[in-house]
Amino acid sequence: MFHKFQSRLNLQGTVETQTAIRVGAGRSTAVIGSDLPVVRDAEGAPYIPGSSFKGVLRSYVESILRSFTEEKSIVCNPTNNDEQCITRDEMETLRDDRDDNNWNEQKYNAKLLSKTCWVCKLFGSLWYASKLQVRDLYVQEDLWFGQYQQRDGVAIDRDTETAVSGHLYDFEVVPAGTPFDFHAIVDNATDWQLGMLYLGLSAFEKGDLTIGGASSRGLGVITLTLDSAHYIDKTKIMDYLTKDDKGDDANWESWIEAFKDRIDKQLEGTDAQTDG
Ligand SMILES: [Zn+2]
Repeated sequence: MFHKFQSRLNLQGTVETQTAIRVGAGRSTAVIGSDLPVVRDAEGAPYIPGSSFKGVLRSYVESILRSFTEEKSIVCNPTNNDEQCITRDEMETLRDDRDDNNWNEQKYNAKLLSKTCWVCKLFGSLWYASKLQVRDLYVQEDLWFGQYQQRDGVAIDRDTETAVSGHLYDFEVVPAGTPFDFHAIVDNATDWQLGMLYLGLSAFEKGDLTIGGASSRGLGVITLTLDSAHYIDKTKIMDYLTKDDKGDDANWESWIEAFKDRIDKQLEGTDAQTDG
């Protein structure tokens, strides 16, 4: 939908494990369930799939928005079709309307946008491309010496969170203090969307979020340290591409203000923004 360059935010930093993190079962590189996000690469070194990091970030941003409103057009539940901001049926109707009435792409996009919730506008949905890409987080090689550790665990029933008697298993962890490279790109996000993103990132900076499951046993705490955040808007794109110009430093304060402003207007009922 958006083929026009508007802006890019380039984020770089380090994610460090504060406690041990579980590694996906077995020696395969497949992710075993979404709550086991640390896996091994082809050489056996651990990495955190970007999609795992993004998933935790998204859930946290959803929880912040839900503290303000339960409105589906602001924050939907992407895991349940009936609770998504645009359900499959609604999408079918929208496409039928477009075809029956010969809408141009602009009109169709405007309709799509008016229904897409704030979270999906940044993180994407089935119908809307994500503006945020988080690269896979690879362990910093000069600090990784294969130091996996074994833990004994008791199998936990996922539904009841009680121990399944007689089911002991071993699992591997990456120890505390392991650093991973973090790199994320946000394309064409609006100011308020970047402010919303910051709330999630800052929770990672504070060490409030966990990945990898078993957080009740103290596993999976990570902290994010951002080393650089560069913003390239459309007036800087030529310098960015042709010279060694990294762009401007991120203007988090004004983006957070834009987000707060939009929340306030939403609560007052005066929010009239229709941007993507
Ligand atoms: Zn949504």
